[in-house]
Amino acid sequence: MNFELKNAQKIRSQNKSTIFDKILVKQAPADIIYEDELCMAFNDIHPQAPVHFLVIPKTKIPMLEKVSKSDGQILGKLLMVAKELGRSRAPDGFRLVINNGRHGCQSVYYLHIHVIGGRQLKWPPT
Ligand code: C5P
Repeated sequence: MNFELKNAQKIRSQNKSTIFDKILVKQAPADIIYEDELCMAFNDIHPQAPVHFLVIPKTKIPMLEKVSKSDGQILGKLLMVAKELGRSRAPDGFRLVINNGRHGCQSVYYLHIHVIGGRQLKWPPT
């Protein structure tokens, strides 16, 4: 069982401060590759492919199922940033993943988009 799966199964609360809250305010280290007033992107510390980074909003949303209608703009923004960075870092193609909840294998309860590429990916993801 990998680290993220173990973590995902341990999590009891979705409202606690997370490591991404700390990364956002530079109280925890991260290899930040992009930042603007609305979002930040940084390389994943356990990359699953040559290109693997995360895009997060600066306003906290714990998980995809908690987004509301008013979050539409930030969701669009996250996708645009994921697309721009993905295209330049993995020009042959890439995949976006949002893990949601326990069965979705979410281990950090701060909404993030995984952008994965730099090699041939397989389908389906297991
Ligand atoms: O979707 P999920 O919640 O499982 O993904 C969390 C991701 O955050 C993992 O891929 C993990 O490697 C990454 N992570 C990170 N930096 C940290 C802690 C976790 O990039 N300090």
